[in-house]
Amino acid sequence: MSCYRGKFADELIANAAYIVTPGKGILAADESTGTIGKRLSSINVENVEENRRALRELLFTTPGAFDYISGVILFEETLYQKASSGIPFVELMKKGGVLPGIKVDKGTVELAGTNGETTTQGLDGLAERCKKYYEAGARFAKWRAVLKIGDTEPSQLAINENANGLARYAIICQQNGLVPIVEPEILVDGAHDINKCADVTERVLAACFKALNDHHVLLEGILLKPNMVTPGFDSAKVSPEVVAEYTVRALQRTVPAACPGVMFLSGGQSEHEATLNLNAMNKLKETKKPWSLSFSFGRALQQSTLKAWAGKEENVKKAQEVFLTRCKANSEATLGTYSSSANLGYGASESLHVKDYKY
Ligand code: 13P
Repeated sequence: MSCYRGKFADELIANAAYIVTPGKGILAADESTGTIGKRLSSINVENVEENRRALRELLFTTPGAFDYISGVILFEETLYQKASSGIPFVELMKKGGVLPGIKVDKGTVELAGTNGETTTQGLDGLAERCKKYYEAGARFAKWRAVLKIGDTEPSQLAINENANGLARYAIICQQNGLVPIVEPEILVDGAHDINKCADVTERVLAACFKALNDHHVLLEGILLKPNMVTPGFDSAKVSPEVVAEYTVRALQRTVPAACPGVMFLSGGQSEHEATLNLNAMNKLKETKKPWSLSFSFGRALQQSTLKAWAGKEENVKKAQEVFLTRCKANSEATLGTYSSSANLGYGASESLHVKDYKY
């Protein structure tokens, strides 16, 4: 049987193409209640609905930010929240030309018999939830699968299980009108070198695209959200040019040209580092890049903003300026025109690594 050709096919293709508009990318603001709680506690702000809403309002109402953003991933709670002006966030986004997206996975659980490897939950009832989210205005979705590098990891079991889960999720989203972001994140934890990360990334992406094909997923109507290819966190760093070369080569070997865009996660890199690496990829000229290379950053778009805000009303304007700086920098990185002299205040060069990161 051929790939998905149902009633949403044209819309999926159009929305995926819209998200990869040159100069734009995705803001990942879909931290679960637990994860956002850790962020808020780092600035001594209580993890209650009003504070979560206030942080998201700060981001979504930053003047000018939507010039650089084509999609925002939301946690379910935020999909139904309003700005203090009374306008639903989803309406604000639509007015600003931004597509709302929704995190639909339900986190990870351990795979029995492995060394702490995981699979992602959330397939039960997913079609019904996708229908509901589409009605509420969502047009794309995210599902995070997590793999790790170790002496014997990732195991073939973890690769197969996560690839299959991503593919099942992807086709269910497409059948219900949501562009699936396929995210097989290989954690940066470990002391491995960049070659090891490249090998594992290629193996994992090849398995994912095989599973997507097996499940009849329409590749023109998905987006890939991978890690960049880098050395492990406990290994010496390499230059953005080297990250760019290894990452683009891994994608060339595994990602079909039919996939419109690759929206990288930041994975614990500092804000500045993530931007420089993306910029270096888009500066590469003498090589094949049939997909757009852009961002879907969480930590690397929000960390300095969070610090500048510190939960205080009087800091909102300053924090929005900081957020706009990061949005603009990453927009430039999608075009390969970022100048590293951009503002690096509020810890934009600090590592955001969290071991065994849960979203
Ligand atoms: P980071 O950019 O913080 O890695 O997170 C992006 C994301 O959406 C992870 O699922």
